[in-house]
Amino acid sequence: MDSRQSDNNVDMLDECNWCVQNVMHHFQDMMEKKRVEYFGNVRVGKDVSLDELRGLYHAVVLAYGAGGGKRLSVEGSGLKNIMSARDFVNWYNGHPSDAPVHVDMAGVKDVLICGLGNVALDCARVLLKKPEDMVGTDISTKPYDAIRQSPIERVRILARRGPAQAACTPKELRELLQLPHVETFVHPEGCLKLTESCKKEIASSRIHKRVVDVLTKSQQKDDDGRKQKELHVQFLSSPVKYVGSHGTVQGVIAERTELAPGRDGGPQRAIGTGEMEEFPCQLVIESVGYVAEPLEGAPFDPKTNTVPNVLGKVVDADDLYVCGWLKRGPSGIIGTNLVDAEQTVDTMVRHIDIWGSSQKPGRQGLMELLESRNHQPITYEAWKRIDEEEISRGQAAGKLREKLTSVEDMISIANNQ
Ligand code: NAP
Repeated sequence: MDSRQSDNNVDMLDECNWCVQNVMHHFQDMMEKKRVEYFGNVRVGKDVSLDELRGLYHAVVLAYGAGGGKRLSVEGSGLKNIMSARDFVNWYNGHPSDAPVHVDMAGVKDVLICGLGNVALDCARVLLKKPEDMVGTDISTKPYDAIRQSPIERVRILARRGPAQAACTPKELRELLQLPHVETFVHPEGCLKLTESCKKEIASSRIHKRVVDVLTKSQQKDDDGRKQKELHVQFLSSPVKYVGSHGTVQGVIAERTELAPGRDGGPQRAIGTGEMEEFPCQLVIESVGYVAEPLEGAPFDPKTNTVPNVLGKVVDADDLYVCGWLKRGPSGIIGTNLVDAEQTVDTMVRHIDIWGSSQKPGRQGLMELLESRNHQPITYEAWKRIDEEEISRGQAAGKLREKLTSVEDMISIANNQ
């Protein structure tokens, strides 16, 4: 942010022109007036350093989120078709990743998803939806075709704790459980009858109570014939070993767990019972949360995986701010991030005078620096050409848009080549 040149200017740096795609139209007005400029295809830490940005602008806001997928440490996780939810989501979204993951849907009848947060529900929904329900979405063509042609019959979500501790939210859960062609099974039997400890634990949480209600309702079956696909929500179960054949996963051995009192009066935790059960699966998605990565030049707390800050101002830095998952950890919905960003902006407004009255090179300086490195950013005008191309390719395929999945293609279209 460059506060002293013809009012405030804000420049947004984005590594792959992809992350902001869905929200870019919200910035249209400011972009047209040039108060905000977009620099796509610019990776901080590679094409420009954080220290250089701090020299160019009065303030820098770190908003790069938590882009890494957490993994479980389970024996056998080197087998093919086992991945983090982040990799699976990037795959079906056509994210132009540096190291694209290979998902082989050809022989997949049973899918295992570890974790019961909203990301797990997103993955299950994409796998279980009928092909015709995906029309009108912007899922990429290749993954869409791979899922459509796969023989998927069953998705099993494994949660190490019970229904009262589920991390997902009721609206998202209901949307999945109401898919008309999918029958939902909740295991183990009787788990929806909450113990006194569970009732006490969720007494003040409407969200948790509603999640239990949604699960309970899903078990009141209306007898309208056999459904085509099955969703199994397996509570009190934790993977201990993946088993495979010819290098590809074929099943999981999971340990039954039980709830034990939480530490220091906190929520109940899962402990193993020693009782094992085995489930077939030819695809495993570990959906156990996201993790932020450190950036050279910014402080980072490896325990919380966040940038230490006070109300959004990074500690020991007068010109550095942070918002979103990088500020508070990977939790909350879009509304949570809005409130969080407002707090950081409020802090910045209170600090404007601390930034000093000297002129800074700002946008012009960044453009010159990138040019001196022969690195071409994708500006808003160039991004509009990519947007138009994606929409027109999408229309031809009967979809909202067909996302470009290679940065090279994006650059060549941005350059009108
Ligand atoms: P999450 O909500 O934190 O859920 C993580 C899940 O992984 C929990 O069920 C957790 O179980 C489990 N887990 C963690 N460590 C584990 C381990 N070692 N072994 C077994 N299970 C483990 O994470 P998320 O689903 O990635 O979502 C991240 C945030 O994005 C959430 O705030 C979510 O609401 C938000 N989001 C929102 C939407 C939406 O609003 N539509 C969509 C996607 C994501 P425990 O509870 O037992 O730890």
